[in-house]
Amino acid sequence: MSEPPPKPRRGLAEVDRDVLECLLCRLWESRLIAVPGEGDPRAPLVLIGEAPGRAEDATGRPFQGISGRYLDACLAEVGLKRERLFITSSVKCHPPGNRNPLPDELAVCSRYWRRQLELIGPSHVLLLGLVASKAVLGEEFPAVRGRLIAREGIVFLPTYHPAAAMRFRRKAGVAFRRDLALVAREIFR
Ligand code: URA
Ligand code: SF4
Repeated sequence: MSEPPPKPRRGLAEVDRDVLECLLCRLWESRLIAVPGEGDPRAPLVLIGEAPGRAEDATGRPFQGISGRYLDACLAEVGLKRERLFITSSVKCHPPGNRNPLPDELAVCSRYWRRQLELIGPSHVLLLGLVASKAVLGEEFPAVRGRLIAREGIVFLPTYHPAAAMRFRRKAGVAFRRDLALVAREIFR
């Protein structure tokens, strides 16, 4: 009899499946579809946002709404394409009424972005907004915004959330674009 096939290494597809079936915090009750994140499994740059919004909850894909289109346009300006990156969020399910994710939700859901970072192994991570900066680095915004912070072999750059950058174009928008240009220079160098 032939040997059984080797067990496949647990990878991003398994993270996706775990997220889609996850019941670990109360956000599962109100979500339509969980949004694990997507992109290049070997991306040099990972983007971590806050939480899926309504458009993402309806499609299961990250940054599908108007701030997603703004993000794509800003990425294009510095020569970055979404398909070459990996995009996810601090919690994977849409909070009801678009409220901020709560500390216990962020804590329990962190297992998924931690595992995604382990599997992808990016050199850089862009943290989109204060919720992601706090959840991933434990650092308070805006003191850390625009600063490259090295932790555990990865360089993190906290920046504005695209929705804030789009809304306050003159200040946040300019700084957001500058931060994207900085990270693009870093990864293309
Ligand atoms: N904000 C996020 O953080 N992620 C999305 O996918 C959409 C909006
Ligand atoms: Fe699970 Fe995260 Fe969704 Fe909570 S937000 S149910 S921890 S996937």
